[in-house]
Amino acid sequence: MKKITIAIDGHSSCGKSTMAKDLAREIGYIYIDSGAMYRACTLFCMQHNLVLADGSIDTKTLEPLMPQIHVSFQLNPETGRPETYLNGINVERDIRTMEVSSHVSPVAAIPFVRKAMTQQQQQMGIEGGIVMDGRDIGTAVFPHAEMKVFVTASDEVRAQRRYDELVAKGEPADFDAVLQNLRERDHIDSTRAVAPLRQAEDALVLDNSHLTIEEQKQWLIEQFHRLTD
Ligand code: C5P
Repeated sequence: MKKITIAIDGHSSCGKSTMAKDLAREIGYIYIDSGAMYRACTLFCMQHNLVLADGSIDTKTLEPLMPQIHVSFQLNPETGRPETYLNGINVERDIRTMEVSSHVSPVAAIPFVRKAMTQQQQQMGIEGGIVMDGRDIGTAVFPHAEMKVFVTASDEVRAQRRYDELVAKGEPADFDAVLQNLRERDHIDSTRAVAPLRQAEDALVLDNSHLTIEEQKQWLIEQFHRLTD
């Protein structure tokens, strides 16, 4: 059977990546976390002092450096989960900090950054058999994806999930700061000029505010079989 392309988009911290990973594992597809790619670009900017005091990005210096940013994924054999590499170095933990979260949306709004990441993402999905999650996968990266899902949940539920995740990892976390960060990211992501976060017209919509991880996984698997069987 031909392998299809699956795009999962939605707001920050709504559990997209958990759903996408679970589905990919269940059906034997490759999972790509496109947000991790923008996070890795942001880490690169921080490492090269390109985040200015007012939070804006030194785009003049960044643009010629873009060919030096290589983001890839490798499976961690112990956890069975893919981890993010920036220029060959494992940055999985470094890209999940609040500092990266607070700078990532301005970086992801830069048109030349989006162009470079979109090209890499399209290349990764060229043969199908991929589940990719992000903000613009069903609208800009794979507008012809056979299956598109748009996920959302209430702000408070999303902030609580993100807060719990940070605490579980032993990262410093403050609920109000997490809530404010995700609202800011949603705002920047939805209002940027290039490939803003929006629901594709042909996307299936899932509000998972009141669903367990297991229930949303089952819903997604059912949708996949409905489309492909
Ligand atoms: O998915 P995650 O929350 O890790 O994404 C981090 C940020 O990367 C988002 O807030 C958004 O600014 C950006 N992003 C994007 N397009 C994507 C995926 C993520 O602009 N396809």
